[in-house]
Amino acid sequence: MVEVKSIEKSFGKLTVLKGVTVQIPKGKVIAILGPNGSGKTTLIKCILGLVIPDKGDILIGGENIKNNWKYRNNIGYLPQIARFPENLTVSELFRMIQDLRKNQNPKNNPEQTCSQFVSLFQIQSFLNKPLRSLSGGTRQKVNVILALMFNPDLYIFDEPTVGLDPISCVRFKETVLKEKNNGKTILLTTHILSEVEEMSDEIIFLLEGKIYYQGSPKELMANKQENTLEKAIAKMLEENEQKNTN
Ligand code: ADP
Ligand code: MG
Repeated sequence: MVEVKSIEKSFGKLTVLKGVTVQIPKGKVIAILGPNGSGKTTLIKCILGLVIPDKGDILIGGENIKNNWKYRNNIGYLPQIARFPENLTVSELFRMIQDLRKNQNPKNNPEQTCSQFVSLFQIQSFLNKPLRSLSGGTRQKVNVILALMFNPDLYIFDEPTVGLDPISCVRFKETVLKEKNNGKTILLTTHILSEVEEMSDEIIFLLEGKIYYQGSPKELMANKQENTLEKAIAKMLEENEQKNTN
């Protein structure tokens, strides 16, 4: 579905991605993990064409994304930090985005999908409120619904569950697994490793601009002889620290 080949990206003197190569297979949930500042959002933005890599290529569905914008029609993106037109109401925002994306997927009925998610995430009573008046969690629910509304083949979620209440987290995770079972590909970042254990087929662990580990969470736990992903990752990083100090 997505092929990232030898991507390099610097911002001024700071090299954020130092030759990242990953294959993201169709129909899987892939989690990009790594400490703050390790380049997760930058990698995601490269895939979206929002950041242009200095070197390397990205192919989606076999096609290079360079100078090619059409592939974005088939992506549902949840940005890490959503900025909304604050004076619009929630339903005005939904309608505006539906209007902008209306010709992208003729099989899709975004109004219907949207109202299903409005009920699922319980935001009916906020539909007529201006976005500036919403709490952080409700804003995140709006962000989630905007990413889910268009029935795309590829979802990219940058820290989707930040600020969500427990019921909404559970419903979000169920939605992700349901979409996966519908053959969709899901790429996400999160710091909540229990979520990764529950949802992800594979993890990509970024460290200092490179892929430090790629494989299934189960494999990593077995390999490190730990019963949680959190402990397994901690062990992996501690071993790395020891190697570097020796
Ligand atoms: P993560 O999502 O893993 O926390 P990011 O990809 O957001 O990390 O950022 C990686 C590094 O790149 C950080 O040090 C960040 O400050 C820097 N960075 C990201 N975007 C820009 C930008 N547009 N201009 C300058 N530096 C940036
Ligand atoms: Mg980030």
